[in-house]
Amino acid sequence: MEDCLFCRIVRGDIPSQKVYEDDDVLAFRDIHPKAPVHFLIIPKKHITSLAEAEPEDAPLLGKMLSLTRTLALQEGCRNGFRVIINTGRDGGQEVGHLHIHVLGGPQPWK
Ligand code: IMP
Repeated sequence: MEDCLFCRIVRGDIPSQKVYEDDDVLAFRDIHPKAPVHFLIIPKKHITSLAEAEPEDAPLLGKMLSLTRTLALQEGCRNGFRVIINTGRDGGQEVGHLHIHVLGGPQPWK
């Protein structure tokens, strides 16, 4: 997707603070963190939202969800973390490329 903000981050057209990258997935720090730890996990493939994911995307979604745990622990969230997937307009999604928010760090921040 030419104009998609997160596709541009995947391509490296827009810089990001990477937390993790492989062939399928990129994780990077949120530009406006809402917690001491706040990063996003996205598929490199453009999927507009969770509502647009297809049944064949299930392995990719599973990989992303599994990575939330691995990366949250790597980022020091040993006492828990929050996972959010805003989906569609009524779900409060602002960027139209599927992303998992992972938030954590010592309270208070919520
Ligand atoms: P949404 O409301 O779930 O779509 O959240 C989009 C998130 O993307 C927000 O938390 C933004 O702060 C974050 N964001 C927007 N642009 C950038 C960027 O260029 N780099 C990193 N995070 C971004």
